[in-house]
Amino acid sequence: MRNLILVLGDQLDLESAVFEDFDCDSDCIWMAECVEEITYVWSHKVRIAFFLSAMRHFRDQQRELGRTVHYHELTPNASADRGAHFSEILASDLTQLSPERVIFVQPGDVRVCHSLEDTIGSAGLEFSVREDRHFYCSVTEFEEYAKGRKGLRLEYFYRELRKRHDVLMDADGPVEGQWNFDHDNRESFGRKGPSGIPRPKLFDADAVTTQVFQLIDDRFFNHPGNLNHFHLPVTREQAVEFLDHFVAKLLPNFGQYEDAMWADEAFLYHSRLSVLLNVKLISPRQCVDAAVAAYQSGHALINSVEGFVRQILGWREFVRGIYWLKMPEYVTLNHLDHQHPLPSFFWDGKTQMNCVQQSMQHVLNHSYSHHIHRLMVLGNFAQLWGAHPKAFHDWHMAMYVDAIDWVSLPNTLGMSQYGDGGIVGTKPYCSSGNYINKMSNFCGDCRFNYKKRVGDDACPFTTFYWEFMDRHYDQLKDNARMKFPIKNLERMRQNSDDMQAIRDRAAELRELWG
Ligand code: SF4
Repeated sequence: MRNLILVLGDQLDLESAVFEDFDCDSDCIWMAECVEEITYVWSHKVRIAFFLSAMRHFRDQQRELGRTVHYHELTPNASADRGAHFSEILASDLTQLSPERVIFVQPGDVRVCHSLEDTIGSAGLEFSVREDRHFYCSVTEFEEYAKGRKGLRLEYFYRELRKRHDVLMDADGPVEGQWNFDHDNRESFGRKGPSGIPRPKLFDADAVTTQVFQLIDDRFFNHPGNLNHFHLPVTREQAVEFLDHFVAKLLPNFGQYEDAMWADEAFLYHSRLSVLLNVKLISPRQCVDAAVAAYQSGHALINSVEGFVRQILGWREFVRGIYWLKMPEYVTLNHLDHQHPLPSFFWDGKTQMNCVQQSMQHVLNHSYSHHIHRLMVLGNFAQLWGAHPKAFHDWHMAMYVDAIDWVSLPNTLGMSQYGDGGIVGTKPYCSSGNYINKMSNFCGDCRFNYKKRVGDDACPFTTFYWEFMDRHYDQLKDNARMKFPIKNLERMRQNSDDMQAIRDRAAELRELWG
């Protein structure tokens, strides 16, 4: 054998650099399902099902192309596993197959990267790591961009990429004269709520996916979540259909309502393309091009299209750059010195807080919730509670089908928990119950009162928000973006009894739920 090509579960990319000189007569592909990747964080059933099904479909497509694939498949019989760890299975195959060289694309997880290099190095084999061409911006390009800059800000990086890739540009600058249409994209559904939301695109489980469901029933039945609502795309063709459906039906209203939430509506106008992008069943260019074409044809307005493009061409590329620039130290950061574990309702959704219960319902049913549920409900609560940022990241990796280390870590530890002290965001993303009330209909049906800070019916978000501000006053008082809440806090602190009552109520809730 000349080359052994490693394909990981999040590298299901037909255009990957590993295939460019593939020779069916002398090269082979290697893929493996392993228990370690399912249990190192306690993976949600939908996450397990999606990865295994998408990997098996990719394997079958490769075989149809005439390529040999050495594939380690998990079976209901645990004793048939050739090792729990990825590295054990690979080490034994390297001895058996004895390739001249091993080739892989840079993994999306530093832990996996080191494990591969160690395993192949220990086998005494040559290896080469190829660039991940899926992204607009390479790791090296981002390093160049970051060189000499004091702080890195999404907005400037995003503008740079828009120009470099000529996306939504006129000769003189951004189309319609603005880089950012965020101010148009913060609407709630008002009292009447959403109407006429298009039905989501559903894919039925085929024989491959059904077999994976059975495996989960047999071996991973005690993992969180359920498979009752699994209708995800698992092939490249289905991924393209999913994108087409989003652009045709959802994109026109996406921007306006991208921050809104509503009871029992998990998806609203969100694309859910992140799961497909992050395993590379679809490329960011396909998504951006489709959205830009919708703008050019007049099908969708600029606020929706620009908001979508910024998530993919801007934010997604930005956090990847940060990950590789700052790792491995980044994962150890804990700027606010938060040390609490997450409360148990982050795993089972059993809480009287309606907003958390709603968000967790989406997570348990779909291994997904849209970004405001993640950031302003679940992430917000974890931060106000004082959860360790790494614990929140590990939970997110376990519970969300679209979480890969490179994208999860800067979003959770950084953006959501402010663990990095301002590398990805300029202030902590936190709010009292007031914001949740404004953006959803959750508070009306909740046993708590979003306006109240103390008392048995006080909203825990509101209590914890002011306790958080008080606790971190010294770290936040000079942050220009926190000026108004800090002023309010200073006013509240003038009445020491009121402030103490908030601290006491927060301590009481921690005692109760901790
Ligand atoms: Fe959430 Fe508080 Fe509103 Fe209840 S009152 S739904 S806990 S924000």
